[in-house]
Amino acid sequence: NLSSKLNTAIRTLKGQGRITDVNVAATVKEIRKALMDADVNYKVAKEITDKIKEEALGQKILIAVEPGQMLVKIVHDELTGLMGGEKKDINLKGDPAVVLIAGLQGSGKTTFSGKLAQHIKKGGRNVLLVACDIYRPAAIDQLKVLGEQVGVEVYAEPENKNAVSIAQNGIEYARKMGKKVVIVDTAGRLAVDEAMMNEIAAVKEAIKPTEILFVVDSMTGQDAVNTAKTFNDRLNFDGVVLTKLDGDARGGAALSIRHVVEKPIKFISTGEKMEALDQFYPDRMASRILGMGDVLSLVEKAQQAFDEEEAERINKKIRQNQFSFDDFYSQLQQIKKMGNIKDLMGMIPGMGQAVKDVDISNDSFKPIEAIIQSMTPAERKKPDIIDPSRKKRIATGSGTSIQQVNNLMKQFEDMRKMMRMMNKVQDGKMKMPTLP
Ligand code: GDP
Ligand code: MG
Repeated sequence: NLSSKLNTAIRTLKGQGRITDVNVAATVKEIRKALMDADVNYKVAKEITDKIKEEALGQKILIAVEPGQMLVKIVHDELTGLMGGEKKDINLKGDPAVVLIAGLQGSGKTTFSGKLAQHIKKGGRNVLLVACDIYRPAAIDQLKVLGEQVGVEVYAEPENKNAVSIAQNGIEYARKMGKKVVIVDTAGRLAVDEAMMNEIAAVKEAIKPTEILFVVDSMTGQDAVNTAKTFNDRLNFDGVVLTKLDGDARGGAALSIRHVVEKPIKFISTGEKMEALDQFYPDRMASRILGMGDVLSLVEKAQQAFDEEEAERINKKIRQNQFSFDDFYSQLQQIKKMGNIKDLMGMIPGMGQAVKDVDISNDSFKPIEAIIQSMTPAERKKPDIIDPSRKKRIATGSGTSIQQVNNLMKQFEDMRKMMRMMNKVQDGKMKMPTLP
């Protein structure tokens, strides 16, 4: 799926010190391929990736965040923007407000009508469902069963074979009964055809809906985009409902439809049960497409808190293999600025559970800070000179044990080794070990 492909693409960047022309080009190509595999059409995919590349290359390096993660954030923001940025509500003004439901047969119109009725009813409004599918014999019964489930009245005329007049009568009835919202469920064909289009257009003309929602099955991939375009050309609808996102639908349809018809997606449907309805949040959909959990908020926090100049200075020292205990100390202060360590750890996918019962607070840094503060400037710069007698002095001075001093020294040495290795990778002297 898209997220695992993106993950692979992004993994290429992981562990690399910075985003450069070379490493971003390969990754962007992978991302474009992944998007296209997820049913995003070529033009859209290319537009997205061109923009991502431009953004990525303009970014400053952040020490706390790997370039791979930064790229994820860029991709995420881009996808969110492409899907409309903000959540868009449906328009329920009017007395009564009239919502017309359109789409192909089997797309999920009737199911969605029931769900929407329940959603609006929960919001405290009096709703009426109107059954305008005059072709399928069981269509009226299906809507009646759903209406009963959610406790919403259904208006139907089993003998009437004119969808326009049923819709008009239904609205008339709603007015008489003091209903505030009318949801008009209509018939669809298996494929777009002129007769169906004429009928739905005539219904629209007659009842002047406050909101026209186009329902589309997300499993139909590229076809979904073409269908959306045809319906929009004829109806100029107000919003899209994406159904069957509970299956292994590829999220790409959401992106492409939005791009091609320039209408917001307002709801997503994720199952046959009446509860399986969600409003559409572009940022959540982007996360879902990326499958990256809360990495994004972590990156955001890091970006807010990190002093870019300081980051740049330390980065330079790392590149020159001159990273010292002073730099380590300064990094600790930066990390502390980012807020509660436990919260931050909790944002890393898979880490939330692991740190649930562990006591990690900024206080955990206290002994480390004390040890570093007990070192002389010379020792901080060149930890190699710290012999056993110096260790003993540092431990006493910082109120810690020799064991704690040893641990920190070992951690610091490991970090430096890691940095030296990364530098060699960047200079092309060494190949990056492949990640699991
Ligand atoms: P209509 O012809 O457009 O009115 O479509 P229906 O509402 O009758 O739905 C067609 C089929 O799709 C039915 O079997 C529904 O139960 C099923 N369906 C509708 N929405 C969803 C959904 O979000 N997820 C899943 N898995 N099935 C759905
Ligand atoms: Mg139906």
